[in-house]
Amino acid sequence: MKHIPYGRQHIGQDDIDEVVKVLKSDWLTQGPAIEKFENELSRYCNAGFSVVSSNGTTALHLACIALDVGSGDIVWTSPNTFVASANCARYCGADVDFVDICSKTYNMSAIALEEKLIQAKKHNKLPKVVVPVHFAGQSCDMQAIHKLSEQYGFKIIEDACHAIGGEYQQKKIGSCQYSDITVFSFHPVKIITTGEGGACVTNDKVLAEKMKLYRTHGITRNEEEMTTASEGGWYYQQKVLGFNYRITDIQCALGSSQLKRVDKYVEKREEIATTYNRELSHLPLVLPSQMGNARSAWHLYVVQVLPENNSRKNVFNKLRESGIGVNVHYSPVHLHPYYRKLGFNIGDFPRSEYYYNNTVSLPMYPTLSLEDQRYVICKLSEILK
Ligand SMILES: *Cc1c(COP(=O)(O)O)cnc(C)c1O
Repeated sequence: MKHIPYGRQHIGQDDIDEVVKVLKSDWLTQGPAIEKFENELSRYCNAGFSVVSSNGTTALHLACIALDVGSGDIVWTSPNTFVASANCARYCGADVDFVDICSKTYNMSAIALEEKLIQAKKHNKLPKVVVPVHFAGQSCDMQAIHKLSEQYGFKIIEDACHAIGGEYQQKKIGSCQYSDITVFSFHPVKIITTGEGGACVTNDKVLAEKMKLYRTHGITRNEEEMTTASEGGWYYQQKVLGFNYRITDIQCALGSSQLKRVDKYVEKREEIATTYNRELSHLPLVLPSQMGNARSAWHLYVVQVLPENNSRKNVFNKLRESGIGVNVHYSPVHLHPYYRKLGFNIGDFPRSEYYYNNTVSLPMYPTLSLEDQRYVICKLSEILK
């Protein structure tokens, strides 16, 4: 029996060699591999600064802290995302609200965002920060969202956990052309991996410094930042209540090595998407649609089952029974019990809910063989015929 997961990492011998080098070195953490990976990320994204951290969730939290999100503030994100995109604001004590998706891209709709901003302005409830999520690896309409941010005075954190290697208007996602901070995750199902890991990239030095301070307990060893003269070579000061959100040198060595292959990975994912697009086009499914000015990193390949033709549950179960590890992305964040207790309900974001009810994520990872992909296509055709 086949076992094909929906996503998985690829680790080469060169990755292993780089990790082993660090294991034999003087630094397992807080060493040179961290800044090296940060510099490589900044260069890759063409952004000014990178701050790597223990995972994508802590990176999102650091980004919210850097933008002064706190109690009494409001943060908006997409309902069609992993819970961390909303939780990061809750960690800061802020209120969370959502903006419904576009039914074509499944990303936060810039039109819905504008409508909600007009209402929010009337009621004096404008968001401090908006977190657009580049779902499945395809950029949101960042130019439109950025224009609204200038009009309504909010900051932007791009949740690009799906999207490293993707492009928007011919620039790499992470250039922060239309945002304050962009966040990546390096979890093994994402485009490149460090095991667990995340990063914030920004063009703002002050934001980068603040995220670095909060990443390590709020502690500084830089005398210029101390309230008094240093008491000696051992001396450090804790200035604010920070966290231990550090990532290790072991993980960063893996990250640096994986980053060398990010473009190859995305090309391979594009090929797989092209094959799905071609081979599934005759089936009663809604295939993912791509915007003209974006190049997706293809973290996910999602299809929608037409409810008049079949049920998502049936398609999901039949594929799983055939050894195909399909998945569902995402159960809308506002419908989780935690968010329902905060007042959200079924019907609040109908396009996200409709999409969720019909969607299935098919296997998508760079080492998916053509044979395995053909098997997926064949099973799906059998189920839907
Ligand atoms: C994976 C993911 C995160 C969280 O990243 P972790 O590294 O798992 O903490 C946040 N947002 C989105 C959209 C993700 O897919």
